[in-house]
Amino acid sequence: MRIGKGFDIHRLVAGRKLILGGVEIPFEKGLLGHSDADVLLHAICDAILGAGGCGDIGIHFPDTDPKYKGANSLNLLKATCAKIRDLGFSIVNIDSTVFAEKPKLLSYREAMEKNIAEYAGIEVSDINVKATTFEGLGAIGNGEGIGAESVVLLEQTD
Ligand SMILES: [Zn+2]
Repeated sequence: MRIGKGFDIHRLVAGRKLILGGVEIPFEKGLLGHSDADVLLHAICDAILGAGGCGDIGIHFPDTDPKYKGANSLNLLKATCAKIRDLGFSIVNIDSTVFAEKPKLLSYREAMEKNIAEYAGIEVSDINVKATTFEGLGAIGNGEGIGAESVVLLEQTD
């Protein structure tokens, strides 16, 4: 068994779509980034890569590579899981928390979990997504950005 942890944060700006866990969420701002800036999926990819001992998302999907401009991060998750399976691991479970002052994310939780399960190739019962605010404190509390963290457990399959 191996454990990995991922963290990511992106700035909220006008004129971008807000996409979390592969779900487009109606909001006045979206996250800024080279890809679709899906902060939740980036934290999950980093946790998976960390557990596998193979670096981070920036190494595997560099934001200087035009190939990843506007990339759907669900495809990055799929590619990350394929890498980890090639190394002989399978994912036991993924637990994540999104840090966002606004909007309320509870009603999108199930859709996010379903997307993550589908693209990671595991059961939805092995995925958990939580959301919390920063109680108005700091940059996230001021609504300047959204953060996410994730932990992943892997087991060796061969
Ligand atoms: Zn990111």
